Amino acid sequence: MAIFCYTAFVEKNYYTTIGLEIHAELKTATKMFCSCKNDPDEERPNVNICPVCTAQPGALPVINKKAVEQVIRVGLAIDGTIAEDFTEFDRKNYFYPDIPKGYQISQYKYPIVSGGELAQFKITRIHLEEDTGTSKHDKGDYSLVDFNRAGVPLMELVTEPHTFENPEEAAKAAGNFAREYQLLLWYLGASDANMEKGEMRVEVNVSVSTDPKKLNTYVEVKNINSVRAAERAIKYEVERMIKLMEEGKADEIVKETRGWDETKNKTFSQRRKEDSHDYRYFPDPDLPKLKLKELFNLAELKDNLPETPKEKRERYKLEAGVKDADIEIFIGNPKLSQFFEEVIANLGGNKEKIKVASNYITSDMAGHMKTDANFVFPHSEYFAELIDMVTENKITSRGAKDILEIMYTEDASPMTIATERNLLQVSDEGSLRTLAEGIILKHPNVAAEYKGGKESSLQFLIGQVMKESKGSANPQVAKQLLVDLLK
Ligand code: ZN
Ligand code: MN
Repeated sequence: MAIFCYTAFVEKNYYTTIGLEIHAELKTATKMFCSCKNDPDEERPNVNICPVCTAQPGALPVINKKAVEQVIRVGLAIDGTIAEDFTEFDRKNYFYPDIPKGYQISQYKYPIVSGGELAQFKITRIHLEEDTGTSKHDKGDYSLVDFNRAGVPLMELVTEPHTFENPEEAAKAAGNFAREYQLLLWYLGASDANMEKGEMRVEVNVSVSTDPKKLNTYVEVKNINSVRAAERAIKYEVERMIKLMEEGKADEIVKETRGWDETKNKTFSQRRKEDSHDYRYFPDPDLPKLKLKELFNLAELKDNLPETPKEKRERYKLEAGVKDADIEIFIGNPKLSQFFEEVIANLGGNKEKIKVASNYITSDMAGHMKTDANFVFPHSEYFAELIDMVTENKITSRGAKDILEIMYTEDASPMTIATERNLLQVSDEGSLRTLAEGIILKHPNVAAEYKGGKESSLQFLIGQVMKESKGSANPQVAKQLLVDLLK
């Protein structure tokens, strides 16, 4: 952000450096260290609990291998390095009512994944830990704790700091990253990553400096429950820091954790940030070190990864020639994208037809999906047939839209629907000629205007022919006929 300093008449540039920490709850059948159900939708408190996840004396944790596998898959998808010799779990000691053991089982020195890259950011690490319970403060002058979430597998990704020219760029990059990571987790089936439900939680480390090579004190912003909130929190925090620096109060920028207040649109101080030595990390003696290369077939896991959003984008562009904006509509909606792929297969790779199909899906169908809560996809073969019909001029584009509307509720082929409702395009001149003659007789004044040189009158007459034919007339043929008849 360029701020003019009027006393010295020099323009200072403030660089924004951000790093991201993203927690995501893994979609596993059971919790991280016990066999309790991992069910984010359970509303009754303290139903999915046992001696292990409520920390009863003598209870021993057992590692959930599926959860470890999910983290490995995410690591492989971002080209990270999977722990060479071993990975291990550590105790992160701190007290909070929702953490029954008095420590969280996490990973410190030997995370499952190191390095990698995603959406402009270098990845530092991805490690595995357990989620906390949830405290409820809404009952009265006391609080309640629900341990259903305690011990749910939680994956934490940490990025390297990245310096941007201004806060807008930083905010945009953070938003992109969060969205891209969320998509990746969806496509890998690793997490539902719903930010509003807290299944994915974004924290941003922000610092501001006039020297891009010198990193100043950073603050950590938490309580961010949407991608937009992440973007707004960064911009707010940078402005706050610049203001303090301009006022000569740079020493008031302290290493702290701040919360994002969604309603007030600002951050607020929560607590001074602990250093990692405050947590007194040490390897959990109850859990074995894991030699991942012996426990998993990493090559096979890599080979069996589904297509990533990035790979999908490239394929849609190259193989199907889909517009960039439309590609994002598909990528952002895995069900829509799966339907599109079925349609592509049904259209036998015909690029022109695939483009038309993409247009109908991203405009008409995506629009319809938004308004219809009970939306069911039509059969992809029927949809492909509709695209065949419209690209082969058997129906008009108006007719195709009408047929598609019917296909959402009626499980019939577009040909059947078109035949029953007389929507097949009439290109045959004989019947259209009669229709066109009738229109001219009905609108003698408009016909005269056209003869007198008013071109727009012809459009009106074509429109009338289309209307009279209920959209089934071929507009090119109708136009030619009218021009001939009015000579
Ligand atoms: Zn349990
Ligand atoms: Mn964590």
